[in-house]
Amino acid sequence: MAKLPTSVPLLVDRFGPHTHTIPPGGWTSAEEPDRTVKTHCCFCGQQCGIQLKVKDNKVVGFEPWQDFPFNLGKLCPKGVKRYLQGDHPDRLLTPLERVQGEGFRRIDWNKALDRTAEAIRRIQQEHGHDAFAVLTGASLTNEKAYLMGKFARVALRTANIDYNGRLCMVSAAAASKKILGYDRAANPWSDIRKSKCILVAGANVAECAPITTEYLWSAREAGAKIIVLDPRMTPIARTVDLYIPVRSGGDIGIFNGMLHVMIERGWIDRDFIAKHTTGFEEVERAVRKYTPEYASKIAGVPASMIVRAAEMWGPAESSFLLHSRGIEHHTKGVENCMAAINLVVATGRIGREGSGYAMITGQGNGQGAREQGQKCDQLPGHRDIENPEHREHMANVWGVLESSIPHKGLSALEIFEAAHARKIRGMILLSFNPMVSLPDQRFIREAIERLEFFAVIDFFLSETARFADIVFPGSLMEEDEGTTTSAEGRVVHHRQVVDPPGEARQDWKIICDLATRLGPKDKFAFASPKEIFDELRQASRGGASDYYGITWEKIDEQKGVFWPCPELDHPGTPRLYEGGRFAHPDGKAHFQAVEWRPAAEEPDEEYPITLTSGRVVAHYLSGNQTRRIGALVKQTPQPYCEMHPRLAEKLSVAEGDFVRVESRRGSTTLRALIVKTIRPDHVFVPYHWPLERSVNNCTIRAIDPVSKIPEFKICAVRVAKAAPPSDDHVKLAPEAGGLR
Ligand code: SF4
Repeated sequence: MAKLPTSVPLLVDRFGPHTHTIPPGGWTSAEEPDRTVKTHCCFCGQQCGIQLKVKDNKVVGFEPWQDFPFNLGKLCPKGVKRYLQGDHPDRLLTPLERVQGEGFRRIDWNKALDRTAEAIRRIQQEHGHDAFAVLTGASLTNEKAYLMGKFARVALRTANIDYNGRLCMVSAAAASKKILGYDRAANPWSDIRKSKCILVAGANVAECAPITTEYLWSAREAGAKIIVLDPRMTPIARTVDLYIPVRSGGDIGIFNGMLHVMIERGWIDRDFIAKHTTGFEEVERAVRKYTPEYASKIAGVPASMIVRAAEMWGPAESSFLLHSRGIEHHTKGVENCMAAINLVVATGRIGREGSGYAMITGQGNGQGAREQGQKCDQLPGHRDIENPEHREHMANVWGVLESSIPHKGLSALEIFEAAHARKIRGMILLSFNPMVSLPDQRFIREAIERLEFFAVIDFFLSETARFADIVFPGSLMEEDEGTTTSAEGRVVHHRQVVDPPGEARQDWKIICDLATRLGPKDKFAFASPKEIFDELRQASRGGASDYYGITWEKIDEQKGVFWPCPELDHPGTPRLYEGGRFAHPDGKAHFQAVEWRPAAEEPDEEYPITLTSGRVVAHYLSGNQTRRIGALVKQTPQPYCEMHPRLAEKLSVAEGDFVRVESRRGSTTLRALIVKTIRPDHVFVPYHWPLERSVNNCTIRAIDPVSKIPEFKICAVRVAKAAPPSDDHVKLAPEAGGLR
């Protein structure tokens, strides 16, 4: 059974997180690097170009990659420190097996693979194929994401594969597909600079997609007006023309209210709507009641702000919508995004230079990892797993019977619910740390502890890997080669920079070795990631996200290729929907009428405050990597509870006091950070930390019915001043982040 083999402090002592502050050779090393390799940063969906300096098979530093077109050499604090994870003392160097009562001990590679294959076979024989689940990440290369889908469906024949992009991009994806036809940013980022009005909804751009800040600022310098919607006045909101402090979950009030005003004042393009869209009548009917006064009650802001936003957006000569998790992490996440996209299509300002729409992808390969068939309901190329023609196409590529391909499986959170109910008995997990990142942590831990067998592939012993029976030491991005697809839809090439250390292996090799043990040897006989990419190209051919015409050589030549790229002589498609041609079979955009509804848990008398969660610039996702990099830990060592001075006064809390944030599911105790930049009825806690410091002790296990994204952005809590935490974990080195 999956359980902690020994105490957390002992595990931390051996496997970290410890912080690493100095590159191999030290800061003052005068030695020249052996070589400098052009590749990409792996710490967010922007995929900035970077050059890594290598000496003796170690990454010793970086140089800007000035002529990579997206970031032109610029990097954020995470980008400039990423190389410090390469030679890290916490790095997993051998396979490990759990020894109850002691911890972990080295195990031979063959034994580790045999034990895992044997456990998969036993569980599937006893409980059926679907009783073994595969969970993966959205920071993987396209090649690995493709391989994981094939591994689950061809080697394990389980329906239950899903990925941590389920916590990230799925609401945006579903909404974009429903209205526009494709799940991808409609425009390259260069169009942002040429836009005259930009609406940023629920996106903490400066911290979560830092390089995008420069695009917004250059648009502003060229005369653009910028509107920001967010319950927190995030750094980007402090410099814009209109900041709307919408309450979490109230976004539909703003979007429908703006459209109401735009229709009234004639700021929609009726000609474009008639020629290029369907469904506007229902939308027009739905927004009729969203007068600014009615909408303001939903949004929790003055009606005049909604009118002002419509006045800026409606008659603009060009416009660009950007949205992110702030509107997506809701049980109505898809509806929020659809209401926002309706605003774009109603003006006809899409598919043109300077006019369009983009969701800001969060995870390193948040875009590509959702295209290659590791989602529970999709096959590669954005194909539908329930569509007979799509299934047949993949059966031909894989050389299997269509009937052998499993149908739609459970989403990430549902997989843990099935494990809790003992319907799923075993799991293998690659680059996912649910013991930090999923909501309702107590429940998630119970679910993991009920597994009969649990294997993890990772490069550090994550909080989740601590529960594993077998841990395989995998590879960092710079230790493998492959492609990712950036937030823009640009496919880029990550070059191998160094070899994995010790006995660590590239993830794709581990998966192929395991698949081979489970039977279909010939189907996993890949000699390199390039061979996997070539199969992926065939698999995606004719699908929505068509990579057939993309080759690694073309990527290098063009500094990235935008999909769809259906033929080898095709240059790629940076801007979608030009000429009003949308990606639905009828060529039209399909408006979706949206009605506001409350969150799964709104504040009430007992729990009167809205808790919202998110990221900080210094950390990436669950922090498994960034909580080990000294400079980043120094920048943000601990989570905190951000609250407005009026709320702090009401609670008799002073700056730096400990407060207990408590929901119906659990609590966390943190220091208070008192700021005027948050609504007085909300508190904010960043989510990158585990155990007692996890905001996900409090968040709710409620999901959007379509996208299955959890509602991370709103739940009800009470907050009170608290004594400092005093358990054993606090004694761990505070300079390294303290409580683990
Ligand atoms: S913006 Fe994203 S990709 Fe660019 S350096 Fe920062 S973390 Fe890396």
